[in-house]
Amino acid sequence: MSTKQSKDSAQSTTKSGQNDLRLGEQRKRIDQIDQQVLDLLNQRLEIAREIGEIKGRRSTDVLDGRRETEIFQKLLELNQGRLLSRKALFEIFARIISASREIQIPHARSASGFEAPALFAVIGNPVSHSLSPIMHNHAFSAIGFNGVYIPLEADDVQSAISGLKSLNFTGASITIPHKESVIDFLDDLDDAAGRIMAVNTIVNSDGRLTGYNTDWSGAMRALSDKVDIKGKDVAIIGAGGAARAVGFGIKAEGGRTIILNRSIPNGEQLARELDAGFIPLSEVEKLDCDVLINTTPIGMTPNVDDMCLPKTMLHHNMVVMDIIYTPLKTKLLREAEKIGCLCIDGLSMFVYQGAEQFALWTGQEAPVEIMRLAVLSALENS
Ligand code: NAP
Repeated sequence: MSTKQSKDSAQSTTKSGQNDLRLGEQRKRIDQIDQQVLDLLNQRLEIAREIGEIKGRRSTDVLDGRRETEIFQKLLELNQGRLLSRKALFEIFARIISASREIQIPHARSASGFEAPALFAVIGNPVSHSLSPIMHNHAFSAIGFNGVYIPLEADDVQSAISGLKSLNFTGASITIPHKESVIDFLDDLDDAAGRIMAVNTIVNSDGRLTGYNTDWSGAMRALSDKVDIKGKDVAIIGAGGAARAVGFGIKAEGGRTIILNRSIPNGEQLARELDAGFIPLSEVEKLDCDVLINTTPIGMTPNVDDMCLPKTMLHHNMVVMDIIYTPLKTKLLREAEKIGCLCIDGLSMFVYQGAEQFALWTGQEAPVEIMRLAVLSALENS
């Protein structure tokens, strides 16, 4: 070996020795931090246990959902560090809060006894990928509501509805393909659901099932976060069930609707029902509007590069909404964002329609931020 080679080899041995040392030190620090985190968690749980005992003695509700929502909101504001993803923050603290709850619940049970939870379901086919169970179960838990929400796949909607009644479910969500056909098997219909002729929510009051539609009000809440619809020209692309619900809302809010649809008879039919204008989707270049809403599945996963109209039709002072939420940012929203449009994603409508359901079922205001985080976290995980 030459002198240079032996020098190089000695240098590299020293460097690797230094790296080993540094690695060892960093691992030791991580072990110390883990120990501190564990100590802090145990301290937190001990305090939670004491609070549970005090509340148990006083017979007050152990679970305090409002406080949990406040904790999440405060943490989101405080978080400036490496924990950049809201999903990670949410998941870590959801587990910590749930561990606190588990410690408190035995005291709660001994104080008030076990109560069977109120039952809820989403009925449709398919439902296995529905995000509603995640969203509603987190929301129940956040406000301390004793409820359980499950997916129920059903082809025969009549049997599913009679099952809900006989098992005394408190409420249900109805999804594709039963939103229209379910109406025949309900006892009462809310005014808006009757006009839209579609139901996405059922409330069971003493054995009477009433159908509601929260798709329209959810869509309007999502829009009203960004724009006042009154007097605006609003283009809806699509003429299916979602378009009917959104169109009903636009009309109720005083917007002027234009329907664009691939199939002319379907588009003309909905335009007539809503007193709206109609343009065949193939003639989209004729469109001039302030707000554009895509209600078709164009651009949905896996076809993430599809778009419902040419990007040249977008202009920077348009508000653009897509009701698709997989992906969260569709091609339409990506292109609209590039030219400076105000954009609204499908998650907002989904969370708000769920929040409206939650209020109908529980009589309480929904923890909207927790619902949004629960769905975001599930979407980021999928
Ligand atoms: P739908 O009743 O089946 O209607 C689908 C509409 O899209 C029809 O007007 C159809 O046109 C049009 N369409 C479908 N494929 C098309 C294509 N390749 N090119 C052009 N037009 C096409 O469905 P929906 O219940 O209204 O739901 C539509 C979408 O909204 C779904 O992706 C659903 O997941 C989403 N959604 C989201 C929320 C939310 O909370 N964010 C709520 C409800 C629905 P034709 O009339 O020509 O067939």
